[in-house]
Amino acid sequence: MLFIDGSWLYHVRPYLLNLDGKPDFEIDYKALPMLVKDHLQGQMNAEVDLVRTNYFGTIAVNKPGHDNQRERQFYEMLNKRCFYNTEIYEFDFRNRESGRKENCLETGLTSVALFHAFQTGVFEVACLLAGDIDYQPLLKHLRLLGKRTMLLGVRGSNGFYPTHPRLLEEANLFDFPPLFLDDHLKKLQYQRVEQIRTCDNCGKEEATTFTSEWFYCRNCRDEHRQMRTRQNLET
Ligand SMILES: [Zn+2]
Repeated sequence: MLFIDGSWLYHVRPYLLNLDGKPDFEIDYKALPMLVKDHLQGQMNAEVDLVRTNYFGTIAVNKPGHDNQRERQFYEMLNKRCFYNTEIYEFDFRNRESGRKENCLETGLTSVALFHAFQTGVFEVACLLAGDIDYQPLLKHLRLLGKRTMLLGVRGSNGFYPTHPRLLEEANLFDFPPLFLDDHLKKLQYQRVEQIRTCDNCGKEEATTFTSEWFYCRNCRDEHRQMRTRQNLET
């Protein structure tokens, strides 16, 4: 079973992008679980069944001037198209000055992992994609419960080491060598395929890389945007 700290992955994404040297580098979220499965199969020399991919993310609320529609669409894509199990926690911007940690992501991931670990026969290996040392107690307890553990990390370079060194160095946390995302950028890159689609509004055909259920051509999108701007100015 795979557990992804989406907040951490979001923060290391720019680094992976730079490594690749392509500004349009995007992670293929369907390829990620396959990569884990292949890596484990190689390590275990046995057929591996990846039971579930659990993704933990945050969504900004009450952030002035911020529309969280794109975040919502992203999580919906993970859920509906990539079959991830998503748990999204609100990141409330109202009380940010308090300096407290404003979301429940790490506790959420830990709770879900332990919950599944207690169900007999649900999974045998917990694969954790995260970089924070906060997960150390979880890893220790998963192993006390007889589960095996594996880390998905990022190697880093030039003084940038996103995976906490203690996660990599401390003995008795993991049962397999870590899988470093930097080593598999080719497999992880999302390949956009251009295709001809018909606009759901005006019926015009246009080449696009959009894979959404509904498709609107460039003209209709521009018109819609202008209309929304006018509406915003009027209200
Ligand atoms: Zn159109």
